[in-house]
Amino acid sequence: GGFQSMGLGYPVYKGVMKKGYKVPTPIQRRTIPLILDGKDVVAMARTGSGKTAAFLIPMFERLKAPSAQTGARALILSPTRELALQTMKFTKELGKFCGFKTALILGGDRMDDQFAALHENPDIIIGTPGRLMHVVVEMNLKLHSVEYVVFDEADRLFEMGFAEQLQGVIQRLPENRQTVLFSATLPKLLVELARAGLTEPVLIRL
Ligand code: AMP
Repeated sequence: GGFQSMGLGYPVYKGVMKKGYKVPTPIQRRTIPLILDGKDVVAMARTGSGKTAAFLIPMFERLKAPSAQTGARALILSPTRELALQTMKFTKELGKFCGFKTALILGGDRMDDQFAALHENPDIIIGTPGRLMHVVVEMNLKLHSVEYVVFDEADRLFEMGFAEQLQGVIQRLPENRQTVLFSATLPKLLVELARAGLTEPVLIRL
């Protein structure tokens, strides 16, 4: 099974081809069909496995369904600025033909630039938990229309002491959403998070 047998729409498939991906990596082969099917997924995958495309490719496909809601429809949480910036780059490249607007909410960046990005009504928000919660509280950013949530490098999200902010974010998300969690390891805390935020997740370990 290559990308062509995954049932991706043309704009998504074209982005994958443009990026030069010929065959899915093992983690992509396992997770993409499940995510396309609407399942919550916990995947053990480290950097280098192709995990970013594993959650972005099905995200673009899922977001193509029209929504009557206004507000962001996808939220990607990253433990560090560097990872969030890298994910933004991949989102622009892989999603080049999909036409979604993306905002980056990062600690250390100017707040006014981030406010401007949020006023553009982004479809996708990529951020670090501390600044994101700050924006939620200070700017009253609503997360009620989020349909798809990614916890990227979730073990690091927790190691870095973001547990409180993550809980704040999870509490504001609608119940009826899809959640995917990627992590290199699966410590106890993460299992608890999975209980709190995921619905009958499928566990993928390679
Ligand atoms: P990641 O694990 O998401 O950090 O990705 C690691 C590297 O693998 C990045 O340079 C990706 O562009 C690349 N990559 C992801 N998926 C594929 C694929 N299916 N074929 C070739 N390279 C890929």
